[in-house]
Amino acid sequence: MNIKVRTAVIGAGASGLAAAITAGEKKSGKTIIIEKQDRAGRKLLATGNGRCNISNLHISRDNYHGDRAIIDRVLSNYPYERAERMCNSLGFLLRSDSEGRVYPMSNRSDTVLDCMLRKLRSLSVDIMYGEEIRFLGKPDDKFCIVLKNDTVYADNIIMAAGSYAAPHLGSDKSAVKLMYDSFGFKYNTMYPALCPVICREKYASLKGVRAKGSVSLIADDNIIKTESGEIQFNDTGLSGICIFNLSGYVNEFLLCGTADGNNCKKIKISVDLMPDRHERDIIGFLRKCRRIFSGEDNTLLLSGLFDKKLSAVLMKCISAGSVTCEKLSEDDLRKAAHIIKNFEFTPSRISDVRNAQTAAGGYGSSIVEPATLMCRKVRNLFICGELLDVYGDCGGYNLHFAFGSGIMAAENIK
Ligand SMILES: Cc1cc2nc3c(=O)[nH]c(=O)nc-3n(C[C@H](O)[C@H](O)[C@H](O)COP(=O)(O)OP(=O)(O)OC[C@H]3O[C@@H](n4cnc5c(N)ncnc54)[C@H](O)[C@@H]3O)c2cc1C
Repeated sequence: MNIKVRTAVIGAGASGLAAAITAGEKKSGKTIIIEKQDRAGRKLLATGNGRCNISNLHISRDNYHGDRAIIDRVLSNYPYERAERMCNSLGFLLRSDSEGRVYPMSNRSDTVLDCMLRKLRSLSVDIMYGEEIRFLGKPDDKFCIVLKNDTVYADNIIMAAGSYAAPHLGSDKSAVKLMYDSFGFKYNTMYPALCPVICREKYASLKGVRAKGSVSLIADDNIIKTESGEIQFNDTGLSGICIFNLSGYVNEFLLCGTADGNNCKKIKISVDLMPDRHERDIIGFLRKCRRIFSGEDNTLLLSGLFDKKLSAVLMKCISAGSVTCEKLSEDDLRKAAHIIKNFEFTPSRISDVRNAQTAAGGYGSSIVEPATLMCRKVRNLFICGELLDVYGDCGGYNLHFAFGSGIMAAENIK
Protein backbone atom coordinates (compact mmCIF):
# COMPACT_ATOMS: atom_id res chain seq x y z
CA MET A 1 0.00 0.00 0.00
CA ASN A 2 1.21 3.55 -0.70
CA ILE A 3 0.91 5.86 2.31
CA LYS A 4 1.26 9.63 1.85
CA VAL A 5 2.09 11.72 4.91
CA ARG A 6 3.45 15.13 5.71
CA THR A 7 5.94 13.84 8.27
CA ALA A 8 7.42 10.43 9.00
CA VAL A 9 9.27 10.10 12.31
CA ILE A 10 11.65 7.15 12.46
CA GLY A 11 11.83 5.75 15.98
CA ALA A 12 9.27 5.77 18.80
CA GLY A 13 11.66 6.57 21.64
CA ALA A 14 11.82 9.73 23.74
CA SER A 15 12.92 12.05 20.93
CA GLY A 16 10.65 10.51 18.29
CA LEU A 17 7.55 10.69 20.49
CA ALA A 18 8.27 14.35 21.36
CA ALA A 19 8.89 15.13 17.68
CA ALA A 20 5.69 13.41 16.56
CA ILE A 21 3.59 15.26 19.17
CA THR A 22 5.04 18.60 18.00
CA ALA A 23 4.54 17.71 14.33
CA GLY A 24 0.99 16.47 15.06
CA GLU A 25 0.14 19.68 16.91
CA LYS A 26 1.05 21.71 13.83
CA LYS A 27 -2.01 20.23 12.12
CA SER A 28 -0.40 20.81 8.75
CA GLY A 29 -0.79 17.24 7.56
CA LYS A 30 -0.57 13.62 8.64
CA THR A 31 2.27 12.46 10.92
CA ILE A 32 3.26 8.83 11.40
CA ILE A 33 5.96 7.08 13.41
CA ILE A 34 7.81 4.07 11.99
CA GLU A 35 9.21 1.87 14.77
CA LYS A 36 11.20 -1.30 14.27
CA GLN A 37 10.26 -2.84 17.60
CA ASP A 38 6.82 -4.09 18.52
CA ARG A 39 6.26 -1.32 21.08
CA ALA A 40 7.16 2.29 21.77
CA GLY A 41 9.52 3.74 24.36
CA ARG A 42 11.30 0.63 25.60
CA LYS A 43 14.35 2.63 26.68
CA LEU A 44 12.19 5.39 28.11
CA LEU A 45 10.48 2.82 30.35
CA ALA A 46 13.87 1.63 31.64
CA THR A 47 15.12 5.10 32.55
CA GLY A 48 15.90 6.03 36.13
CA ASN A 49 15.31 2.41 37.20
CA GLY A 50 11.74 2.71 35.97
CA ARG A 51 11.27 6.11 37.62
CA CYS A 52 12.26 8.21 34.60
CA ASN A 53 14.67 10.98 35.56
CA ILE A 54 13.15 13.18 32.88
CA SER A 55 15.05 16.46 33.36
CA ASN A 56 17.07 18.49 35.82
CA LEU A 57 16.39 21.80 37.57
CA HIS A 58 19.96 22.88 36.75
CA ILE A 59 20.13 22.26 33.01
CA SER A 60 23.39 23.74 31.76
CA ARG A 61 25.64 23.32 28.74
CA ASP A 62 28.38 22.20 31.17
CA ASN A 63 26.55 18.93 31.71
CA TYR A 64 26.70 18.08 28.02
CA HIS A 65 29.46 16.76 25.78
CA GLY A 66 29.85 16.74 22.04
CA ASP A 67 28.78 19.28 19.43
CA ARG A 68 28.65 22.62 21.28
CA ALA A 69 26.66 24.46 18.59
CA ILE A 70 23.89 21.87 18.68
CA ILE A 71 23.89 21.72 22.50
CA ASP A 72 23.52 25.49 22.77
CA ARG A 73 20.69 25.78 20.24
CA VAL A 74 18.68 22.92 21.67
CA LEU A 75 19.06 24.06 25.29
CA SER A 76 18.15 27.65 24.53
CA ASN A 77 15.02 26.50 22.70
CA TYR A 78 14.10 24.04 25.45
CA PRO A 79 14.98 25.32 28.93
CA TYR A 80 13.77 23.46 32.04
CA GLU A 81 10.66 25.65 32.33
CA ARG A 82 9.55 24.52 28.89
CA ALA A 83 10.09 20.87 29.82
CA GLU A 84 7.86 21.38 32.84
CA ARG A 85 5.16 23.06 30.75
CA MET A 86 5.29 20.24 28.21
CA CYS A 87 4.87 17.59 30.91
CA ASN A 88 1.97 19.47 32.48
CA SER A 89 0.27 19.83 29.10
CA LEU A 90 0.57 16.07 28.64
CA GLY A 91 -1.22 15.54 31.96
CA PHE A 92 1.45 14.86 34.57
CA LEU A 93 3.30 16.85 37.21
CA LEU A 94 6.98 16.74 38.13
CA ARG A 95 8.89 16.58 41.38
CA SER A 96 12.59 17.04 42.05
CA ASP A 97 15.06 15.59 44.53
CA SER A 98 17.68 17.41 46.60
CA GLU A 99 20.19 17.25 43.72
CA GLY A 100 17.85 18.79 41.18
CA ARG A 101 16.96 15.54 39.41
CA VAL A 102 13.43 15.75 38.09
CA TYR A 103 10.96 12.84 37.92
CA PRO A 104 7.27 12.48 37.13
CA MET A 105 5.31 12.90 40.35
CA SER A 106 4.10 9.31 40.05
CA ASN A 107 7.76 8.21 40.13
CA ARG A 108 6.95 5.95 37.19
CA SER A 109 8.25 6.03 33.64
CA ASP A 110 5.07 4.42 32.30
CA THR A 111 3.20 7.59 33.31
CA VAL A 112 5.36 9.53 30.85
CA LEU A 113 5.01 6.99 28.05
CA ASP A 114 1.26 6.54 28.54
CA CYS A 115 0.66 10.32 28.51
CA MET A 116 2.71 10.73 25.32
CA LEU A 117 0.93 7.86 23.57
CA ARG A 118 -2.46 9.23 24.65
CA LYS A 119 -1.53 12.63 23.22
CA LEU A 120 -0.43 11.03 19.95
CA ARG A 121 -3.75 9.19 19.65
CA SER A 122 -5.62 12.45 20.24
CA LEU A 123 -3.62 14.01 17.41
CA SER A 124 -4.32 11.00 15.12
CA VAL A 125 -0.61 10.22 14.84
CA ASP A 126 -0.29 6.52 13.96
CA ILE A 127 2.61 4.31 14.96
CA MET A 128 3.63 1.54 12.55
CA TYR A 129 5.27 -1.14 14.72
CA GLY A 130 7.67 -3.93 13.78
CA GLU A 131 8.71 -2.18 10.57
CA GLU A 132 12.13 -2.65 9.03
CA ILE A 133 13.10 0.07 6.57
CA ARG A 134 14.32 -1.60 3.37
CA PHE A 135 15.00 1.55 1.41
CA LEU A 136 15.11 5.25 2.21
CA GLY A 137 15.64 7.85 -0.49
CA LYS A 138 14.55 11.15 -1.93
CA PRO A 139 14.09 10.51 -5.66
CA ASP A 140 12.17 13.80 -6.14
CA ASP A 141 10.74 16.38 -3.76
CA LYS A 142 9.31 13.66 -1.49
CA PHE A 143 11.06 11.04 0.61
CA CYS A 144 10.30 7.44 -0.14
CA ILE A 145 10.50 4.84 2.65
CA VAL A 146 10.07 1.24 1.54
CA LEU A 147 8.82 -1.11 4.27
CA LYS A 148 7.94 -4.80 4.07
CA ASN A 149 4.38 -4.33 2.75
CA ASP A 150 4.05 -0.57 2.37
CA THR A 151 5.77 2.39 0.79
CA VAL A 152 5.57 5.67 2.67
CA TYR A 153 5.93 9.01 0.84
CA ALA A 154 6.74 11.93 3.15
CA ASP A 155 7.55 15.65 2.83
CA ASN A 156 9.65 15.53 6.00
CA ILE A 157 11.57 12.85 7.76
CA ILE A 158 12.68 13.10 11.37
CA MET A 159 15.32 10.49 12.21
CA ALA A 160 14.91 9.71 15.92
CA ALA A 161 16.38 6.22 16.01
CA GLY A 162 18.69 6.65 19.02
CA SER A 163 22.17 5.26 19.57
CA TYR A 164 23.49 1.73 19.87
CA ALA A 165 23.73 1.87 23.68
CA ALA A 166 21.85 -0.79 25.66
CA PRO A 167 21.17 -3.20 22.77
CA HIS A 168 19.00 -5.41 25.03
CA LEU A 169 16.44 -2.60 24.73
CA GLY A 170 16.44 -2.91 20.95
CA SER A 171 19.13 -0.35 20.05
CA ASP A 172 21.49 -0.99 17.16
CA LYS A 173 23.30 0.83 14.39
CA SER A 174 20.66 0.17 11.72
CA ALA A 175 19.79 3.87 11.44
CA VAL A 176 23.36 5.05 10.84
CA LYS A 177 23.79 2.34 8.22
CA LEU A 178 20.57 3.51 6.58
CA MET A 179 21.76 7.14 6.62
CA TYR A 180 25.03 6.14 5.04
CA ASP A 181 23.47 3.89 2.39
CA SER A 182 20.80 6.46 1.53
CA PHE A 183 22.65 9.77 1.76
CA GLY A 184 26.32 8.96 2.35
CA PHE A 185 26.25 10.60 5.80
CA LYS A 186 29.16 9.74 8.05
CA TYR A 187 28.93 10.06 11.81
CA ASN A 188 31.53 10.99 14.40
CA THR A 189 32.97 7.89 16.11
CA MET A 190 30.49 6.38 18.57
CA TYR A 191 31.53 4.90 21.88
CA PRO A 192 29.74 3.92 25.08
CA ALA A 193 29.20 6.60 27.72
CA LEU A 194 27.60 6.60 31.17
CA CYS A 195 28.79 3.14 32.04
CA PRO A 196 31.11 1.28 34.43
CA VAL A 197 34.86 1.57 33.78
CA ILE A 198 36.98 -1.55 33.35
CA CYS A 199 40.37 -1.18 35.04
CA ARG A 200 43.72 -2.92 35.07
CA GLU A 201 43.70 -3.14 38.89
CA LYS A 202 41.35 -5.96 39.88
CA TYR A 203 40.37 -6.39 43.51
CA ALA A 204 38.02 -9.38 43.66
CA SER A 205 37.40 -8.82 47.37
CA LEU A 206 36.01 -5.33 46.69
CA LYS A 207 33.09 -6.63 44.60
CA GLY A 208 29.96 -4.94 45.93
CA VAL A 209 31.80 -2.53 48.25
CA ARG A 210 30.60 1.08 48.16
CA ALA A 211 32.23 4.23 49.49
CA LYS A 212 31.51 7.96 49.32
CA GLY A 213 34.19 10.20 47.86
CA SER A 214 35.29 12.06 44.79
CA VAL A 215 36.81 10.73 41.57
CA SER A 216 38.99 12.58 39.09
CA LEU A 217 39.86 11.72 35.52
CA ILE A 218 43.50 12.65 35.01
CA ALA A 219 44.92 12.78 31.48
CA ASP A 220 48.70 12.95 31.55
CA ASP A 221 48.98 15.34 34.53
CA ASN A 222 45.83 17.36 33.97
CA ILE A 223 42.58 16.89 35.85
CA ILE A 224 39.90 16.72 33.17
CA LYS A 225 36.89 16.25 35.42
CA THR A 226 36.11 15.63 39.08
CA GLU A 227 32.84 14.17 40.32
CA SER A 228 31.58 13.39 43.81
CA GLY A 229 29.24 10.69 45.02
CA GLU A 230 29.07 7.00 45.74
CA ILE A 231 31.82 4.88 44.22
CA GLN A 232 30.93 1.25 43.62
CA PHE A 233 33.83 -1.18 43.43
CA ASN A 234 33.44 -4.37 41.46
CA ASP A 235 35.68 -7.18 40.30
CA THR A 236 36.39 -5.54 36.94
CA GLY A 237 36.82 -1.95 38.03
CA LEU A 238 34.65 0.97 39.11
CA SER A 239 31.02 1.93 38.84
CA GLY A 240 28.49 4.36 40.30
CA ILE A 241 27.03 7.59 38.96
CA CYS A 242 30.21 9.62 39.52
CA ILE A 243 32.20 7.01 37.54
CA PHE A 244 29.52 6.97 34.80
CA ASN A 245 30.13 10.70 34.38
CA LEU A 246 33.84 10.04 33.69
CA SER A 247 33.33 7.00 31.46
CA GLY A 248 32.81 8.94 28.23
CA TYR A 249 36.28 10.50 28.58
CA VAL A 250 37.78 7.10 29.37
CA ASN A 251 36.29 5.43 26.31
CA GLU A 252 37.23 8.43 24.16
CA PHE A 253 40.85 7.99 25.21
CA LEU A 254 40.85 4.23 24.72
CA LEU A 255 39.33 4.56 21.26
CA CYS A 256 40.75 7.84 19.94
CA GLY A 257 43.78 8.63 22.14
CA THR A 258 42.23 11.95 23.22
CA ALA A 259 40.56 13.19 26.39
CA ASP A 260 37.99 15.94 25.93
CA GLY A 261 39.34 16.39 22.40
CA ASN A 262 43.01 16.82 23.38
CA ASN A 263 45.72 14.29 22.60
CA CYS A 264 47.18 12.58 25.62
CA LYS A 265 49.43 9.63 26.41
CA LYS A 266 47.83 8.13 29.48
CA ILE A 267 44.83 8.46 31.72
CA LYS A 268 43.98 7.34 35.21
CA ILE A 269 41.12 7.64 37.65
CA SER A 270 42.13 8.86 41.08
CA VAL A 271 39.70 8.14 43.91
CA ASP A 272 39.75 10.45 46.92
CA LEU A 273 38.05 8.59 49.76
CA MET A 274 38.18 11.56 52.15
CA PRO A 275 37.77 14.65 49.96
CA ASP A 276 36.92 16.88 52.93
CA ARG A 277 40.15 16.13 54.84
CA HIS A 278 43.71 17.14 54.17
CA GLU A 279 46.35 14.39 54.01
CA ARG A 280 48.08 15.89 57.09
CA ASP A 281 44.94 15.62 59.22
CA ILE A 282 44.42 12.05 58.11
CA ILE A 283 47.97 11.15 59.22
CA GLY A 284 47.17 12.66 62.64
CA PHE A 285 44.05 10.51 62.93
CA LEU A 286 45.93 7.38 61.77
CA ARG A 287 48.44 7.89 64.59
CA LYS A 288 45.51 7.59 67.01
CA CYS A 289 44.26 4.49 65.17
CA ARG A 290 47.71 2.96 65.44
CA ARG A 291 47.26 3.10 69.24
CA ILE A 292 43.57 2.17 69.27
CA PHE A 293 44.11 -0.92 67.11
CA SER A 294 47.34 -1.88 68.85
CA GLY A 295 47.91 -5.64 68.68
CA GLU A 296 45.46 -6.03 65.79
CA ASP A 297 46.25 -7.04 62.21
CA ASN A 298 47.20 -3.86 60.29
CA THR A 299 44.46 -4.49 57.69
CA LEU A 300 42.12 -3.13 60.40
CA LEU A 301 43.91 0.22 60.69
CA LEU A 302 41.39 1.95 58.42
CA SER A 303 38.37 -0.09 59.46
CA GLY A 304 36.95 2.80 61.45
CA LEU A 305 36.88 4.83 58.24
CA PHE A 306 35.85 2.38 55.54
CA ASP A 307 34.33 -1.02 54.87
CA LYS A 308 36.70 -3.70 56.28
CA LYS A 309 37.38 -5.14 52.80
CA LEU A 310 38.34 -1.72 51.47
CA SER A 311 40.49 -1.06 54.55
CA ALA A 312 42.33 -4.36 53.93
CA VAL A 313 42.92 -3.64 50.22
CA LEU A 314 44.24 -0.14 50.91
CA MET A 315 46.66 -1.47 53.51
CA LYS A 316 47.81 -4.21 51.11
CA CYS A 317 48.47 -1.54 48.48
CA ILE A 318 50.91 0.27 50.74
CA SER A 319 52.81 -3.02 51.32
CA ALA A 320 53.10 -2.65 55.09
CA GLY A 321 53.76 -6.38 55.43
CA SER A 322 52.16 -8.47 58.18
CA VAL A 323 53.04 -6.31 61.20
CA THR A 324 50.39 -5.45 63.77
CA CYS A 325 49.06 -1.89 63.90
CA GLU A 326 51.32 -0.52 66.64
CA LYS A 327 54.36 -1.55 64.57
CA LEU A 328 53.37 0.55 61.57
CA SER A 329 55.99 3.22 60.85
CA GLU A 330 55.38 6.94 60.24
CA ASP A 331 56.15 6.23 56.59
CA ASP A 332 53.42 3.55 56.53
CA LEU A 333 50.94 6.08 57.94
CA ARG A 334 51.98 8.67 55.35
CA LYS A 335 51.50 6.11 52.58
CA ALA A 336 48.12 5.08 53.99
CA ALA A 337 46.94 8.71 54.10
CA HIS A 338 48.25 9.23 50.58
CA ILE A 339 46.39 6.26 49.12
CA ILE A 340 43.19 7.32 50.89
CA LYS A 341 43.46 10.59 48.93
CA ASN A 342 44.82 9.03 45.72
CA PHE A 343 43.56 5.47 45.20
CA GLU A 344 44.50 5.11 41.53
CA PHE A 345 42.97 3.00 38.78
CA THR A 346 44.09 2.59 35.17
CA PRO A 347 41.25 2.12 32.67
CA SER A 348 42.19 -0.80 30.45
CA ARG A 349 39.38 -1.66 28.07
CA ILE A 350 36.44 0.09 26.40
CA SER A 351 33.28 -0.44 28.40
CA ASP A 352 30.67 -2.85 27.16
CA VAL A 353 27.95 -0.99 25.26
CA ARG A 354 25.43 -3.32 26.90
CA ASN A 355 26.06 -1.54 30.19
CA ALA A 356 25.99 1.97 28.74
CA GLN A 357 23.11 4.38 29.22
CA THR A 358 24.08 6.38 26.17
CA ALA A 359 26.67 6.69 23.42
CA ALA A 360 29.00 9.54 22.57
CA GLY A 361 29.50 10.44 18.92
CA GLY A 362 26.93 10.60 16.14
CA TYR A 363 25.94 13.34 13.71
CA GLY A 364 27.37 16.79 14.38
CA SER A 365 26.95 20.24 12.91
CA SER A 366 28.83 19.31 9.74
CA ILE A 367 25.77 17.20 8.90
CA VAL A 368 22.90 19.15 10.54
CA GLU A 369 22.24 22.86 10.94
CA PRO A 370 22.29 23.51 14.72
CA ALA A 371 19.44 26.03 14.52
CA THR A 372 16.97 23.66 12.89
CA LEU A 373 18.51 20.14 13.09
CA MET A 374 17.82 19.88 9.35
CA CYS A 375 20.49 18.08 7.33
CA ARG A 376 22.58 20.50 5.33
CA LYS A 377 22.66 18.38 2.19
CA VAL A 378 19.18 16.84 2.29
CA ARG A 379 16.49 19.42 2.92
CA ASN A 380 13.59 18.42 5.20
CA LEU A 381 15.51 15.51 6.65
CA PHE A 382 16.02 16.12 10.39
CA ILE A 383 18.03 14.30 13.02
CA CYS A 384 17.32 14.39 16.76
CA GLY A 385 17.98 12.58 20.04
CA GLU A 386 20.92 10.32 20.68
CA LEU A 387 21.74 10.02 16.98
CA LEU A 388 23.22 13.49 17.32
CA ASP A 389 26.79 13.93 18.55
CA VAL A 390 25.66 15.01 22.02
CA TYR A 391 25.37 13.23 25.33
CA GLY A 392 24.72 14.48 28.83
CA ASP A 393 25.79 13.52 32.33
CA CYS A 394 23.64 11.31 34.54
CA GLY A 395 20.81 13.26 36.12
CA GLY A 396 18.04 13.68 33.53
CA TYR A 397 20.17 15.53 30.98
CA ASN A 398 19.82 12.91 28.23
CA LEU A 399 16.05 12.71 28.28
CA HIS A 400 15.92 16.50 28.44
CA PHE A 401 18.05 16.67 25.30
CA ALA A 402 16.07 13.91 23.58
CA PHE A 403 12.77 15.73 24.14
CA GLY A 404 14.22 19.17 23.37
CA SER A 405 15.88 18.09 20.13
CA GLY A 406 12.80 16.14 18.97
CA ILE A 407 10.62 19.19 19.57
CA MET A 408 13.09 21.50 17.81
CA ALA A 409 13.35 19.28 14.73
CA ALA A 410 9.56 19.07 14.41
CA GLU A 411 9.17 22.84 14.84
CA ASN A 412 11.18 23.26 11.66
CA ILE A 413 9.34 20.88 9.34
CA LYS A 414 7.75 22.42 6.29
C1 LIG B 1 19.11 1.75 31.43
C2 LIG B 1 19.04 3.20 31.01
C3 LIG B 1 18.62 4.14 31.93
C4 LIG B 1 18.60 5.49 31.55
N1 LIG B 1 18.14 6.40 32.45
C5 LIG B 1 18.06 7.70 32.09
C6 LIG B 1 17.51 8.67 32.98
O1 LIG B 1 17.01 8.34 34.07
N2 LIG B 1 17.51 9.97 32.58
C7 LIG B 1 17.99 10.36 31.36
O2 LIG B 1 17.98 11.56 31.06
N3 LIG B 1 18.45 9.46 30.47
C8 LIG B 1 18.49 8.15 30.79
N4 LIG B 1 18.94 7.23 29.89
C9 LIG B 1 19.28 7.70 28.52
C10 LIG B 1 17.99 7.94 27.71
O3 LIG B 1 17.14 6.83 27.85
C11 LIG B 1 18.30 8.15 26.24
O4 LIG B 1 19.24 9.19 26.10
C12 LIG B 1 17.05 8.51 25.44
O5 LIG B 1 16.08 7.48 25.57
C13 LIG B 1 17.39 8.71 23.97
O6 LIG B 1 16.21 8.91 23.26
P1 LIG B 1 16.18 8.65 21.69
O7 LIG B 1 14.80 8.93 21.25
O8 LIG B 1 17.29 9.36 21.02
O9 LIG B 1 16.51 7.10 21.52
P2 LIG B 1 15.70 5.82 22.02
O10 LIG B 1 14.93 6.12 23.25
O11 LIG B 1 16.68 4.72 22.04
O12 LIG B 1 14.63 5.57 20.87
C14 LIG B 1 15.01 5.18 19.56
C15 LIG B 1 13.88 4.38 18.95
O13 LIG B 1 14.17 4.19 17.57
C16 LIG B 1 13.91 2.85 17.20
N5 LIG B 1 14.75 2.53 16.06
C17 LIG B 1 16.10 2.36 16.03
N6 LIG B 1 16.51 2.09 14.77
C18 LIG B 1 15.40 2.09 13.99
C19 LIG B 1 15.19 1.86 12.63
N7 LIG B 1 16.19 1.58 11.79
N8 LIG B 1 13.92 1.90 12.14
C20 LIG B 1 12.88 2.18 12.99
N9 LIG B 1 13.03 2.40 14.31
C21 LIG B 1 14.28 2.37 14.80
C22 LIG B 1 14.29 2.08 18.45
O14 LIG B 1 13.67 0.81 18.47
C23 LIG B 1 13.76 2.99 19.56
O15 LIG B 1 12.43 2.74 19.87
C24 LIG B 1 18.97 5.88 30.23
C25 LIG B 1 19.37 4.90 29.32
C26 LIG B 1 19.40 3.57 29.69
C27 LIG B 1 19.82 2.54 28.69
